[in-house]
Amino acid sequence: MSSVTAPRTATGGPGLPQERRLVTAVPGPRSQELLARKTAAVPRGVGVAVPIAVVAAGGGVVVDADGNSLIDLGSGIAVTSVGNADPAVVAAVAAQAQAFTHTCFTIAAYEGYVEVAEALNRLTPGDHEKRTALFTSGAEAVENAVKIARRHTGRQAVVVFDHAYHGRTNLTLALTAKNQPYKSGFGPFAPEVYRVPMSYPFHDGLTGAEAAARAISQIEKQVGAEDTAALLIEPIQGEGGFVVPAEGFLPALAAWAREHDVVFIADEVQTGFARTGAMFASEHEGVVPDVVTTAKGIAGGLPLSAVTGRADVMDSPQVGGIGGTYGGNPVACAAALAAIDAFEHGGLIERARAIETIVLGALRTAQAQDPRIGDVRGRGAMLAMELVDPATGEPDSALTGRVVTYAAEHGVIALTAGTYGNVVRFLPPLSIDDALLTEGLGVVLEGLAAV
Ligand code: PMP
Repeated sequence: MSSVTAPRTATGGPGLPQERRLVTAVPGPRSQELLARKTAAVPRGVGVAVPIAVVAAGGGVVVDADGNSLIDLGSGIAVTSVGNADPAVVAAVAAQAQAFTHTCFTIAAYEGYVEVAEALNRLTPGDHEKRTALFTSGAEAVENAVKIARRHTGRQAVVVFDHAYHGRTNLTLALTAKNQPYKSGFGPFAPEVYRVPMSYPFHDGLTGAEAAARAISQIEKQVGAEDTAALLIEPIQGEGGFVVPAEGFLPALAAWAREHDVVFIADEVQTGFARTGAMFASEHEGVVPDVVTTAKGIAGGLPLSAVTGRADVMDSPQVGGIGGTYGGNPVACAAALAAIDAFEHGGLIERARAIETIVLGALRTAQAQDPRIGDVRGRGAMLAMELVDPATGEPDSALTGRVVTYAAEHGVIALTAGTYGNVVRFLPPLSIDDALLTEGLGVVLEGLAAV
């Protein structure tokens, strides 16, 4: 069997030359070789969006086995917010790995887990007493948040929203809205999940109050407040298309939940940790959730997730009712402590806001000249343009696909999103510099003009 002849790894991190550099077509021969092996070894259900074989990444670039350096506007889906192979994260990981790599926290405790819990209890919205439990993936955090809310309330129903994405496990697929590719053929899904309309200003034109009244009326008529354990919502929807609800929508839902003793769970898996220009997206409208789920950006690329919430809610499950072999792995916790230090003290919230100014400015300028850009939206470094057919206003997913393919072929990693597949989303690492960010955006917009 042949193998990729380029080095499998190279030194990454911010020391990599911060440049877009193409020395072959994308994918180049070495990337193609790996992707051929992938096709033979990995099921097709595990897709690959950008056809490259990565050997290093850092700052704002991803380097492939052919020596191409691509501008990263995706951060591995909002994960490497502190930067890929961030030196502080790498040092913390190495030191922890040398000390011990695993005990299973529910067998023998260690300080890193407790320190991450303390940090999240301090940093998530609200100054009430909190507890945090750690897990490995975002889906696992969401599943556990639902378990805890059911245990706390003694009720079963979970209310979720149109366009929601909460993961790919059986319960979280039930919570996720989109059939293709996520749910198709994988049912039956978990019961007692009810979907109500989201606030989606570009599509519904409603104010936040109107959209909340519509959702609440549906919950009260079809589910019943007295039977509802939890209301679960992404404060800004991620996979659903970076949908920012109209002002007032989230506070109205949170107030309704409080009034009816329904646990309000903010799924901040994608929006958390400075991504939206605040430590958590709930803060933009002063919403204090009962429970917050986090993952992705939390640990600079190591797998870690968390459920943080009101102490009385979080303490309701019995001893042994919450856990898992790897949850709060010590190496991931060490990485998280380094990443959280950067979010708190490294100016990353301000950096996300500066990225918002640059990206929204460029996208709005482009929108003024191109009616195919139906909407431009987002907060911080979580920004998007929604592409439509100007004649009909209908979503244009084919155009969207061509734009991100053009971008990849020209050395820029950009991702799509949206129920209708017609959203180009921008999730750069917060470590990207202005010049690279502007260049990367320029390539995407050039792609839109060209295709
Ligand atoms: N919730 C949200 C809001 C997400 O964006 C995601 C991942 N895209 C998940 C949950 C699931 O996270 P994971 O893929 O780590 O299971």
